[in-house]
Amino acid sequence: PALHGAELAVSGVAKAFGGNQALRDVSITARPGRVTALIGPNGSGKTTMLNMICGFYRTDAGRITVGGTQLQRLPAHHVARAGVARTFQTPNLPEGVSVLEAVASGRCSTARASLLDAVLRLPRFRRVRDADIAEALRVLELVGMTHLRDAEAVSLPLGMRRLLEVARALVTRPSVLLLDEAASGLDEDEVDRLAELIRRIRDAGGTVLLVEHNFRLILALADEIFVLAHGQVIASGPPEVIERDPRVLSEYLGV
Ligand code: ADP
Repeated sequence: PALHGAELAVSGVAKAFGGNQALRDVSITARPGRVTALIGPNGSGKTTMLNMICGFYRTDAGRITVGGTQLQRLPAHHVARAGVARTFQTPNLPEGVSVLEAVASGRCSTARASLLDAVLRLPRFRRVRDADIAEALRVLELVGMTHLRDAEAVSLPLGMRRLLEVARALVTRPSVLLLDEAASGLDEDEVDRLAELIRRIRDAGGTVLLVEHNFRLILALADEIFVLAHGQVIASGPPEVIERDPRVLSEYLGV
Protein backbone atom coordinates (compact mmCIF):
# COMPACT_ATOMS: atom_id res chain seq x y z
CA PRO A 1 0.00 0.00 0.00
CA ALA A 2 1.22 3.53 -0.72
CA LEU A 3 1.93 5.41 2.46
CA HIS A 4 1.27 9.08 2.74
CA GLY A 5 4.07 10.18 5.00
CA ALA A 6 4.04 13.64 6.52
CA GLU A 7 6.92 15.74 7.70
CA LEU A 8 7.71 15.50 11.41
CA ALA A 9 9.36 18.66 12.68
CA VAL A 10 10.77 19.01 16.17
CA SER A 11 11.99 22.49 16.86
CA GLY A 12 13.79 23.82 19.93
CA VAL A 13 12.35 21.20 22.27
CA ALA A 14 13.44 21.14 25.90
CA LYS A 15 12.54 18.84 28.77
CA ALA A 16 13.77 18.64 32.35
CA PHE A 17 13.01 16.05 35.01
CA GLY A 18 13.52 17.89 38.27
CA GLY A 19 17.00 19.37 37.96
CA ASN A 20 17.99 16.95 35.20
CA GLN A 21 17.88 18.66 31.79
CA ALA A 22 17.12 15.60 29.60
CA LEU A 23 16.70 17.59 26.36
CA ARG A 24 17.77 21.11 25.50
CA ASP A 25 16.94 22.97 22.29
CA VAL A 26 16.55 19.81 20.20
CA SER A 27 15.55 20.22 16.55
CA ILE A 28 14.96 17.22 14.29
CA THR A 29 13.18 16.86 10.96
CA ALA A 30 11.99 13.58 9.46
CA ARG A 31 10.68 13.72 5.89
CA PRO A 32 8.46 11.44 3.81
CA GLY A 33 10.30 8.91 1.66
CA ARG A 34 13.34 9.06 3.91
CA VAL A 35 14.68 7.08 6.82
CA THR A 36 15.74 9.41 9.61
CA ALA A 37 17.66 8.08 12.60
CA LEU A 38 18.11 9.38 16.10
CA ILE A 39 21.17 7.91 17.76
CA GLY A 40 23.22 8.60 20.85
CA PRO A 41 24.72 6.92 23.89
CA ASN A 42 22.64 5.70 26.83
CA GLY A 43 21.04 8.54 28.73
CA SER A 44 21.42 11.01 25.85
CA GLY A 45 17.66 11.62 25.65
CA LYS A 46 16.47 9.39 22.79
CA THR A 47 13.61 7.75 24.66
CA THR A 48 12.58 11.06 26.16
CA MET A 49 12.40 12.53 22.64
CA LEU A 50 10.19 9.65 21.46
CA ASN A 51 7.95 10.07 24.49
CA MET A 52 7.65 13.79 23.77
CA ILE A 53 6.68 13.17 20.14
CA CYS A 54 4.07 10.61 21.23
CA GLY A 55 2.54 12.96 23.76
CA PHE A 56 3.49 10.86 26.78
CA TYR A 57 5.42 13.83 28.21
CA ARG A 58 4.78 17.54 27.83
CA THR A 59 7.46 19.76 26.39
CA ASP A 60 8.91 22.55 28.54
CA ALA A 61 9.67 24.54 25.39
CA GLY A 62 9.65 24.17 21.61
CA ARG A 63 7.31 22.91 18.91
CA ILE A 64 6.50 19.49 17.50
CA THR A 65 4.45 19.32 14.30
CA VAL A 66 3.32 16.60 11.89
CA GLY A 67 2.33 17.85 8.46
CA GLY A 68 2.14 21.32 10.00
CA THR A 69 -0.22 20.31 12.82
CA GLN A 70 1.06 21.07 16.30
CA LEU A 71 1.35 18.02 18.53
CA GLN A 72 3.15 19.24 21.60
CA ARG A 73 0.03 20.01 23.64
CA LEU A 74 -1.95 16.96 22.58
CA PRO A 75 -2.49 13.86 24.71
CA ALA A 76 -1.10 10.57 23.37
CA HIS A 77 -4.34 9.27 21.83
CA HIS A 78 -4.75 12.51 19.85
CA VAL A 79 -1.17 12.21 18.64
CA ALA A 80 -1.99 8.66 17.48
CA ARG A 81 -5.08 9.97 15.71
CA ALA A 82 -2.94 12.61 14.02
CA GLY A 83 -1.15 9.70 12.33
CA VAL A 84 1.88 9.08 14.53
CA ALA A 85 2.44 5.36 15.14
CA ARG A 86 5.11 3.88 17.33
CA THR A 87 6.56 0.46 17.93
CA PHE A 88 7.90 -0.54 21.31
CA GLN A 89 11.13 -2.31 22.14
CA THR A 90 9.28 -5.13 23.84
CA PRO A 91 6.44 -6.47 21.71
CA ASN A 92 3.51 -7.06 24.02
CA LEU A 93 0.87 -9.45 22.73
CA PRO A 94 -1.59 -11.59 24.66
CA GLU A 95 -1.71 -15.37 24.25
CA GLY A 96 -4.08 -17.10 21.85
CA VAL A 97 -4.12 -14.32 19.25
CA SER A 98 -3.15 -15.07 15.67
CA VAL A 99 -0.78 -12.96 13.60
CA LEU A 100 -3.68 -11.83 11.43
CA GLU A 101 -5.81 -10.83 14.41
CA ALA A 102 -2.89 -9.01 15.99
CA VAL A 103 -2.36 -6.95 12.84
CA ALA A 104 -6.06 -6.31 12.24
CA SER A 105 -6.47 -5.08 15.81
CA GLY A 106 -3.58 -2.64 15.39
CA ARG A 107 -6.02 -0.37 13.61
CA CYS A 108 -8.73 -0.64 16.24
CA SER A 109 -6.33 -0.02 19.06
CA THR A 110 -5.36 3.29 17.46
CA ALA A 111 -8.87 4.30 16.59
CA ARG A 112 -10.07 3.61 20.09
CA ALA A 113 -6.93 4.18 22.09
CA SER A 114 -7.08 6.12 25.29
CA LEU A 115 -3.90 7.24 27.02
CA LEU A 116 -4.03 4.11 29.15
CA ASP A 117 -4.42 1.90 26.07
CA ALA A 118 -1.51 3.66 24.42
CA VAL A 119 0.72 3.13 27.44
CA LEU A 120 -0.39 -0.41 28.25
CA ARG A 121 -0.99 -1.32 24.60
CA LEU A 122 -4.31 -2.95 25.37
CA PRO A 123 -5.59 -4.35 22.10
CA ARG A 124 -9.26 -4.27 21.20
CA PHE A 125 -9.56 -7.67 19.63
CA ARG A 126 -13.32 -7.87 19.98
CA ARG A 127 -13.78 -5.01 17.56
CA VAL A 128 -11.93 -6.40 14.56
CA ARG A 129 -14.00 -5.91 11.40
CA ASP A 130 -13.84 -7.32 7.88
CA ALA A 131 -12.33 -4.10 6.52
CA ASP A 132 -9.58 -4.38 9.10
CA ILE A 133 -8.92 -8.00 8.10
CA ALA A 134 -8.59 -7.02 4.43
CA GLU A 135 -6.16 -4.23 5.29
CA ALA A 136 -4.26 -6.52 7.66
CA LEU A 137 -3.80 -9.05 4.84
CA ARG A 138 -2.38 -6.32 2.59
CA VAL A 139 0.07 -5.27 5.29
CA LEU A 140 1.09 -8.87 6.00
CA GLU A 141 1.93 -9.19 2.32
CA LEU A 142 4.11 -6.07 2.48
CA VAL A 143 5.85 -7.37 5.60
CA GLY A 144 6.31 -10.82 4.05
CA MET A 145 4.39 -12.66 6.78
CA THR A 146 1.33 -13.88 4.89
CA HIS A 147 2.32 -17.52 5.42
CA LEU A 148 2.25 -16.94 9.19
CA ARG A 149 -1.24 -15.44 9.34
CA ASP A 150 -2.69 -18.24 11.48
CA ALA A 151 0.34 -18.70 13.73
CA GLU A 152 0.04 -17.62 17.35
CA ALA A 153 1.59 -14.15 17.57
CA VAL A 154 3.33 -14.58 20.95
CA SER A 155 4.93 -17.86 19.85
CA LEU A 156 6.90 -16.28 17.00
CA PRO A 157 10.64 -15.69 17.34
CA LEU A 158 11.61 -12.18 18.46
CA GLY A 159 12.58 -11.06 14.95
CA MET A 160 9.13 -11.96 13.63
CA ARG A 161 7.40 -10.32 16.58
CA ARG A 162 9.30 -7.12 15.79
CA LEU A 163 8.15 -7.26 12.16
CA LEU A 164 4.65 -7.90 13.49
CA GLU A 165 4.93 -4.77 15.65
CA VAL A 166 5.79 -2.80 12.53
CA ALA A 167 2.84 -4.40 10.71
CA ARG A 168 0.49 -3.43 13.55
CA ALA A 169 1.70 0.14 13.25
CA LEU A 170 1.48 0.15 9.44
CA VAL A 171 -2.13 -1.00 9.40
CA THR A 172 -3.08 2.36 10.89
CA ARG A 173 -1.60 3.98 7.74
CA PRO A 174 0.58 6.24 9.82
CA SER A 175 1.86 9.55 8.50
CA VAL A 176 4.90 9.07 10.75
CA LEU A 177 6.30 5.75 11.93
CA LEU A 178 8.51 5.78 15.02
CA LEU A 179 10.61 2.66 15.62
CA ASP A 180 12.05 2.26 19.11
CA GLU A 181 15.16 0.06 19.11
CA ALA A 182 13.49 -2.27 16.64
CA ALA A 183 16.72 -4.17 15.93
CA SER A 184 17.82 -4.88 19.50
CA GLY A 185 18.13 -8.58 20.28
CA LEU A 186 17.75 -9.62 16.63
CA ASP A 187 20.21 -11.87 14.84
CA GLU A 188 21.83 -10.83 11.57
CA ASP A 189 19.20 -12.39 9.31
CA GLU A 190 16.42 -10.81 11.32
CA VAL A 191 18.11 -7.40 11.17
CA ASP A 192 18.39 -7.80 7.38
CA ARG A 193 14.68 -8.55 7.11
CA LEU A 194 13.83 -5.57 9.28
CA ALA A 195 16.10 -3.31 7.22
CA GLU A 196 14.47 -4.56 4.03
CA LEU A 197 11.03 -3.79 5.44
CA ILE A 198 12.07 -0.30 6.54
CA ARG A 199 13.41 0.38 3.03
CA ARG A 200 10.11 -0.75 1.57
CA ILE A 201 8.19 1.57 3.87
CA ARG A 202 10.48 4.41 2.90
CA ASP A 203 10.15 3.66 -0.81
CA ALA A 204 6.36 3.59 -0.44
CA GLY A 205 6.55 7.19 0.74
CA GLY A 206 6.46 6.65 4.50
CA THR A 207 8.15 8.88 7.05
CA VAL A 208 10.33 6.71 9.29
CA LEU A 209 12.14 7.82 12.44
CA LEU A 210 14.40 5.15 13.93
CA VAL A 211 15.71 5.37 17.46
CA GLU A 212 18.50 2.87 17.41
CA HIS A 213 21.68 1.70 19.11
CA ASN A 214 22.89 -0.42 16.22
CA PHE A 215 25.31 2.02 14.59
CA ARG A 216 26.08 -0.21 11.61
CA LEU A 217 22.39 -0.64 10.83
CA ILE A 218 21.92 3.12 10.96
CA LEU A 219 24.85 3.76 8.62
CA ALA A 220 23.48 1.22 6.15
CA LEU A 221 19.87 2.33 6.33
CA ALA A 222 19.44 5.96 7.29
CA ASP A 223 19.23 8.83 4.82
CA GLU A 224 19.76 11.36 7.57
CA ILE A 225 21.11 10.94 11.10
CA PHE A 226 20.74 13.12 14.18
CA VAL A 227 23.19 12.42 17.00
CA LEU A 228 22.17 13.24 20.56
CA ALA A 229 24.63 13.60 23.42
CA HIS A 230 23.76 14.97 26.86
CA GLY A 231 20.34 16.02 25.61
CA GLN A 232 21.60 18.04 22.65
CA VAL A 233 21.98 17.40 18.93
CA ILE A 234 25.76 17.40 18.43
CA ALA A 235 25.75 16.42 14.75
CA SER A 236 23.36 15.77 11.89
CA GLY A 237 23.69 14.75 8.29
CA PRO A 238 23.91 11.78 5.96
CA PRO A 239 25.75 8.61 7.08
CA GLU A 240 28.90 9.50 5.10
CA VAL A 241 29.26 12.66 7.15
CA ILE A 242 28.25 11.22 10.53
CA GLU A 243 30.63 8.26 10.40
CA ARG A 244 33.58 10.63 10.02
CA ASP A 245 32.49 13.27 12.52
CA PRO A 246 35.10 13.38 15.31
CA ARG A 247 32.54 14.55 17.91
CA VAL A 248 30.31 11.60 17.07
CA LEU A 249 33.19 9.15 17.25
CA SER A 250 34.28 10.41 20.66
CA GLU A 251 30.83 10.94 22.21
CA TYR A 252 28.98 8.03 20.76
CA LEU A 253 31.56 5.38 20.09
CA GLY A 254 33.96 6.46 22.82
CA VAL A 255 37.00 6.51 20.54
P1 ADP B 1 18.26 7.32 26.17
O1 ADP B 1 16.95 6.84 25.66
O2 ADP B 1 19.08 8.03 25.14
O3 ADP B 1 19.05 6.25 26.88
P2 ADP B 1 16.65 8.75 28.08
O4 ADP B 1 15.76 9.62 27.29
O5 ADP B 1 16.08 7.49 28.62
O6 ADP B 1 17.98 8.45 27.28
O7 ADP B 1 17.21 9.58 29.33
C1 ADP B 1 17.70 10.91 29.22
C2 ADP B 1 17.85 11.50 30.62
O8 ADP B 1 16.55 11.76 31.15
C3 ADP B 1 18.52 10.58 31.61
O9 ADP B 1 19.32 11.37 32.46
C4 ADP B 1 17.36 9.96 32.34
O10 ADP B 1 17.75 9.60 33.64
C5 ADP B 1 16.35 11.08 32.37
N1 ADP B 1 14.96 10.59 32.38
C6 ADP B 1 14.30 9.98 31.37
N2 ADP B 1 13.03 9.72 31.70
C7 ADP B 1 12.86 10.19 32.97
C8 ADP B 1 11.77 10.22 33.89
N3 ADP B 1 10.56 9.73 33.55
N4 ADP B 1 11.97 10.78 35.10
C9 ADP B 1 13.18 11.29 35.44
N5 ADP B 1 14.24 11.28 34.63
C10 ADP B 1 14.11 10.75 33.41
